[in-house]
Amino acid sequence: MWNTIIRGYSLSSTPLRAVEFYRMMILSGTEPNSYTFPFVLKSCARIGAASPEGKQLHGHVLKLGLGCDAFVHTSLINMYAKSGELENARLVFDKSCLRDAVSYTALITGYVSRGCMDDARRLFDEMLARDAVSWNAMISGYAQSGRFEEALGLFEEMRRANVVPNESTMVSVLSACAHLGALDLGKWIHVYIDKKLQSLSNAPLQTSLIDMYAKCGNIEAAKQVFDGMEDKSLASWNAMITGLAMHGEANAALELFSKMGDEGIKPDDITFVGVLSACNHGGLVDLGRKYFSSMTKDYNISPQLQHYGCMIDLLGRAGLLDEAEALMKTMEMKPDGAVWGSLLGACRTHKRVEMGEYVAKHVFELEPENAGAYVLLSNIYAGAGMWDDVARIRTTLNDMGIKKVPGSTSIEVDSVVHEFLVGDKVHPLSEEIYEMLKEMDRLLDMAGFVPDTSEVLYDMDEEWKEGVLSHHSEKLAIAFGLISTKPGTTIRIVKNLRVCGNCHSATKLISKIFNREIIARDRNRFHHFRDGSCSCNDNW
Ligand code: ZN
Ligand code: ZN
Repeated sequence: MWNTIIRGYSLSSTPLRAVEFYRMMILSGTEPNSYTFPFVLKSCARIGAASPEGKQLHGHVLKLGLGCDAFVHTSLINMYAKSGELENARLVFDKSCLRDAVSYTALITGYVSRGCMDDARRLFDEMLARDAVSWNAMISGYAQSGRFEEALGLFEEMRRANVVPNESTMVSVLSACAHLGALDLGKWIHVYIDKKLQSLSNAPLQTSLIDMYAKCGNIEAAKQVFDGMEDKSLASWNAMITGLAMHGEANAALELFSKMGDEGIKPDDITFVGVLSACNHGGLVDLGRKYFSSMTKDYNISPQLQHYGCMIDLLGRAGLLDEAEALMKTMEMKPDGAVWGSLLGACRTHKRVEMGEYVAKHVFELEPENAGAYVLLSNIYAGAGMWDDVARIRTTLNDMGIKKVPGSTSIEVDSVVHEFLVGDKVHPLSEEIYEMLKEMDRLLDMAGFVPDTSEVLYDMDEEWKEGVLSHHSEKLAIAFGLISTKPGTTIRIVKNLRVCGNCHSATKLISKIFNREIIARDRNRFHHFRDGSCSCNDNW
């Protein structure tokens, strides 16, 4: 009876009660057994009470000679790991002869939750028999800590080991594909899920597919998955609206939002991030204002940092800098570096030197190492012909030894993702790629393309360190795409930074000269280059 009630509370919303009942049990003179401990320990794990309660229980386990019970043993590891006492979890694990897949996985999960992926991997590699749960713990750990290539690599190994992945493995793998822009692999996984898991009615999986297709640049396929869903969850509406917004299909995103209301689905804060970013990418100022106020008024959702960020960016781009600043003053929370940074970008576009100086000061306070902000400020000075100030900023940057994030672009050809850095010559086809670059430059020249050299000389852009414009990473990736795919094939690239002005105009022309559709994802959004123009209408 004691065990039953302890077990009940351990699964309830009040796990602390299980610990209280355990105490009463001891006081009543009833001796706990191997069925009692897993559940009291689980309760401690849920409330993070390794010390002192968990340790006292551990003492009881040893006194009663239950340390060698497999279930109790794993529960101890789990309890320490979940309470953040990884060293103790490790001690229990190391001192014991009981090492099975379950106890390994308990410890691996502990390391993964702390982001210690290398420790987790060492344990994982030691394991003799791995089950789907342990594979899944590792793969989702890699995906959550941004190590997407490793997540996909491990998934490949899992398949070769003939372990059947579960739904949560697939969700992690799809998110890795989405981040890397690995569309071929994503498609393959779609088919695989269809065949092997027969669980396509699973809403989280379908939502992951929508997200993957949208982020890999195939918005049509995302729509198909979405339209085919019988029970659309809130998350799936959100994924679709955000996806459309990213692709600059502002009207479609807003239509979907109103359809969502018609079907009686209540939007949440994430929905509004999608709606506002649709307005932002579409440059729809009036609608943006309308949705922003409707969010609080009609839906009782108080705007968060991201919502303000979208609005301030939208207003700033439209040149309404004073309105943007006024909105910033109404924020309940402190604006972060990204919000100030977008305002700084607007100051550059609209040549507001004084405001730019003051905004930059705020960015530097929050993010002293933000090289991009120094570059923007320098560009503001350059635009106003204030060359002494430009030189001063350059010196500051050099003195501080600030390193920029290097620009890199990846492209997937025949299911293999190739990554290029600026001026990169390590690719096996490097010679052919540079031949193609020359040819591209020749044809661009013939088509009357004039590179904007002012950006090289004075206007330090995001990639100011990248040097020669024609060797920017996206140009390399496009050149590789042109030589390694059949004529007419769509080229899809993913860039980690914002596309620079020069590459943007060059890519527009390249799409026309080579008669290719080029879909580029940069840090903020998608660009669909087709027949000499871009879907973003040069607003990005
Ligand atoms: Zn560029
Ligand atoms: Zn564009």
